[in-house]
Amino acid sequence: MEQPIAVTRQSFDDWMVPVYAPADFILVRGEGSQVWDQQGKSYIDFAGGIAVNALGHAHPVVTAALVEQAGKLWHLGNGYTNEPVLRLAKQLIDATFADKVFFCNSGAEANEAALKLARKRALDQGNSSKNQIVAFNNAFHGRTLFTVSAGGQPKYSKDFAPLPGGITHTPFNDLAAAAEVINDNTCAVIVEPIQGEGGVLPADPAFLQGLRELCDRHDAVLIFDEVQTGMGRTGELYAYTQYGVVPDVLTTAKALGCGFPIGAMLTTDELAKTLGVGTHGTTYGGNPLATAVAGAVFSIINTPEVLDGVKQRHQWFLDGLNKINQQYPIFSEIRGGGLLIGCQLTQDYAGKAKQITQLANEEGVIALIAGPDVVRFTPSLIIPEQDVKEGLARFARAVARICS
Ligand SMILES: *Cc1c(COP(=O)(O)O)cnc(C)c1O
Repeated sequence: MEQPIAVTRQSFDDWMVPVYAPADFILVRGEGSQVWDQQGKSYIDFAGGIAVNALGHAHPVVTAALVEQAGKLWHLGNGYTNEPVLRLAKQLIDATFADKVFFCNSGAEANEAALKLARKRALDQGNSSKNQIVAFNNAFHGRTLFTVSAGGQPKYSKDFAPLPGGITHTPFNDLAAAAEVINDNTCAVIVEPIQGEGGVLPADPAFLQGLRELCDRHDAVLIFDEVQTGMGRTGELYAYTQYGVVPDVLTTAKALGCGFPIGAMLTTDELAKTLGVGTHGTTYGGNPLATAVAGAVFSIINTPEVLDGVKQRHQWFLDGLNKINQQYPIFSEIRGGGLLIGCQLTQDYAGKAKQITQLANEEGVIALIAGPDVVRFTPSLIIPEQDVKEGLARFARAVARICS
């Protein structure tokens, strides 16, 4: 057999388009909430592949579903439907407000579908000026041109002009500002129940409630981007149920496939009619391999055992992080819900989130940032207590180093 090509971290710089700056080690294996690098060093994984690996690495049931489907049928194209996609659709429909599902391959694609649906719905109603989209500062909705434009972080869109027009941004959690721009020409409002990439900022219940009322008054589509908050991340299957505010369209991805690429847009019967045959689509969306994996993931996550476990783990993290913060006061606030936790750095440590996660890597734990001033934790929803303790002990050593 031919030897595999030898690769090191340097190979990344040699061969890859430099849109990322990955850590200076290469991970080769994972099991549960632990991963190992090429040198055999172990890390506790508090990042979960950016809120994706909700059941950790190499979960036996998910792996078995993948392997079983891999031996049967991978892909057909959308001229032929398949059993796993229909079963997954029914699982999502039975567990949410939705009546209909559109499958795609990523969060950005799910949001793209949602925004296109809203524009076309208004046009189908004969209202060609009802094309305005309201979104929020600091939001993140993906990296396609439409979704970076809807996102509220100009650093991701400013180099790609001309951008799709008709999108207005107002401050997150400022209902009065939103009310000023939402009118009868608004076709959609898109919002994250908890801004993830933007710094782990939860929406105020009154804000989402108010957006719901404004959308009702002006017949606009309320889109909840639950790509990061969905699939159990906050301790409920989707965060909208915690807020008691039901959107018209919900987008989900990330943890839906636990690492196998899949996204979905959920909506009502009435809105689904907008996207008739041939109006939208994607080659891989809803293929049997992805949906078989997601079906297994769904069956495990949508149980009281896993969802209640998220709330318990939230407390373990809070207790541990507060203890660290008592000894080394570097956080001004610890916020978020379930296992989407953000630690805001104090003025003294502003801009040091990346450096802290690099030191954490050296100590053997993987954490995320959410902007330069927030350390973010999005571990597996079933991370064992022992791994939480050990990971936080390692994280505490990193914090001690930044404070010394
Ligand atoms: C990650 C994320 C996206 C983009 O998902 P991709 O799969 O990277 O396209 C969109 N919205 C939110 C809230 C996200 O966290």
